[in-house]
Amino acid sequence: MKKIEHIGIAVKNLEKSNDLYSKLFNSSPYKMEEVASEGVKTSFFQVGESKIELLEASNENSAIAKFIAKKGEGVHHIAYDVEDIYAEMDRLRKEGFQLLNEQPKYGADNKLVCFIHPKSAGGVLIELCQERKEDQ
Ligand code: ZN
Repeated sequence: MKKIEHIGIAVKNLEKSNDLYSKLFNSSPYKMEEVASEGVKTSFFQVGESKIELLEASNENSAIAKFIAKKGEGVHHIAYDVEDIYAEMDRLRKEGFQLLNEQPKYGADNKLVCFIHPKSAGGVLIELCQERKEDQ
């Protein structure tokens, strides 16, 4: 794994949270994007070399809606940047981690992503992400 790509934070209201985080960072989100397949609306802030992703549920079946109902707003996942997501998924599967999707999915911010169940990862939801290449 190359680095922490971003930290995902679940929020109830993206607009309000954008205001809050804009004040915190003294900058605006550089990108807002809806990922319909995941039932989320996202915004991204650049913080130095790192990014913060805010996630709001766009429907009540979304994983973010369930997370907030259970735990409230807060840190939702940590995303690690990987060179080759297929190779990392194979490696981690063999190490006994429980992958939440068998194939990489299209995530926000032009990434291929795979999530690892928190139960197999010390209580933290992990996202692997790889920048999409032209043929992916
Ligand atoms: Zn993420």
